[in-house]
Amino acid sequence: MKDNCFNEFDPNALSVEKALSRILKSIASKKDTELVPLKKSYGRVLAKDIKSNQNIPNYKNSAMDGYAVCMDDTKSKDKYTFRCVGESFAGRPYNKNVKVNEAVKVMTGGMVPNSCNAVVMKELVKNIDDKIIVDTNIFKDQNIRFPGEDIKKNDTVLTKGKQIDDVDMGILASLGQANILVYSRPIIGFFSTGDELVSIDNPIKISQVYDSNRYLLHGLLQKYPIEIKDFGVVKDKLTSVEKKLTLASNKCDLLLTTGGVSVGDADFIKNALKRLGKVNFWKIAVKPGRPLAFGKIKKCFFFGLPGNPVSVVVTFNLFVNAAIRKMSGQINSPSLSITAKLQSGIKKRKGRKEYKRGILTINNGKFFVKSSGAQGSNILSSLKDANCYIELAEYIERIKEGDNVKVIPFALSSDHYE
Ligand code: AMP
Ligand code: MG
Repeated sequence: MKDNCFNEFDPNALSVEKALSRILKSIASKKDTELVPLKKSYGRVLAKDIKSNQNIPNYKNSAMDGYAVCMDDTKSKDKYTFRCVGESFAGRPYNKNVKVNEAVKVMTGGMVPNSCNAVVMKELVKNIDDKIIVDTNIFKDQNIRFPGEDIKKNDTVLTKGKQIDDVDMGILASLGQANILVYSRPIIGFFSTGDELVSIDNPIKISQVYDSNRYLLHGLLQKYPIEIKDFGVVKDKLTSVEKKLTLASNKCDLLLTTGGVSVGDADFIKNALKRLGKVNFWKIAVKPGRPLAFGKIKKCFFFGLPGNPVSVVVTFNLFVNAAIRKMSGQINSPSLSITAKLQSGIKKRKGRKEYKRGILTINNGKFFVKSSGAQGSNILSSLKDANCYIELAEYIERIKEGDNVKVIPFALSSDHYE
C-alpha cells in the first residue's frame, strides 16, 4: 500500500505490538537487589517469592466476644447449659483442660481451648451464677478461626516481581518479615529539547513556550520504584544535544527526551542517537506519537519521545511504562479493556492505531464513551478531561455513533500493558 491522502500507511513504521515486543526483548530486568526495612518497602519490587514460615493465624481462636463451649456431641438441640470455668483473652489464653459441658469466656482473637468445638456470641447467652444457658442450636466450629485459615505454612504468599502495596506490607508484617529483599531502583533521567522552551521560573515572551514536558514526566514517573534525574532543557543544536546525551546516558539506566525527534530542520535526536549509540526503531504506526526513537547509548536505554505533550503521555503509557516495569523487575500483565458504545461519530484515517482521549460513562449497566474534546496532540486539556483511551485499530476508517469501540479506562490501564 502506498502513502496517499486517503490513509496514513507508512511502510517504515512498526505496529504498536511489534514495537512493544522489540522494546521488551531488548531490555533486561535489573538483577541487583537490596534489603530494605519493611517500612521503606512500599512501591518497591520483590526480588524473591515470599513463602510463609507459619500458619496464620497460628492458633485456634475466636471470631467473637462470647463463650467457647465444649459439647459432647454436635446433634442439634434447643437448649444447652455449660459451666463457665475461666476466661481467655487475646494474648492471655486459658491453659487448663476444658471438659464436656464446660465453657470459657472468650474475647475476639482469644485462644479457643483445644477441646472446645464452638463459640457462642455473648448476646445469645444467659448468665446464671457460674452457668451459661444457650437456647438456640449451636453448630460445630461456629465462630472459630482455625490455624492456617488465612495463610498456610509453606504457601507462596507473594511472588517475585510484585510491586509491594499497602496490603502486602500488612501481610509481610503478619509473617514477621522485618527486612525485605527488593530490586535496586533503576536510574531514569530526562531532558527537553527546543529553542522555544523556557523554564517555569523565567518570564515568557510571545513565541516561547513553558517547558511543560519535564513536569509531565516528573508526574508520570512518580509511581515507579526508580531514581529520577532531571537534566533540564537543551537547545536545538546537534552538538548541544550530543553533549547532553553523552553526559546523561553515562548516569542513567534509561534516558528519555522529548521533542526534536521528527523530520523537521530542528530535529536532531535521531541523528545524535545514530552517532552515539544504536537506533532500534524510530517510527511507530500510532497516533499520537508516530516519531518515537528507541535505542541504546552504551549501557543506557533511550526513548526519544515526541514533543507534543499529549504524544508524550500516550507514548509513555504505551511504551515507556512497559520498559520501566521490565527494567525494575515487575511483571507485565495484559491490558484490561472494555467495550463501550460510541455516543457520537469519530473521524479516523486508515494506517495508524489511534488512542483518542475519551469520557467513559455507565448508564443502566451499559458503557458509553465520547470524545473528550479536540484531539490534537498539543491539546493537553482534552487529556485532562478524559478518563479513558478509545483504542482504534490501524485498519479502522470511520466510526459511527452507536458503534462498539474498545476502551482502556485510565484507572485500569497504567499497570497493564504488555
Ligand atoms: P517537536 O517534536 O520538537 O517538533 O515539538 C512538537 C511540539 O511540541 C512543538 O509545538 C513544541 O513547541 C512542543 N513542545 C516540545 N517540547 C515541549 C516541552 N518540553 N514543553 C511543552 N511543549 C513542547
Ligand atoms: Mg522541537
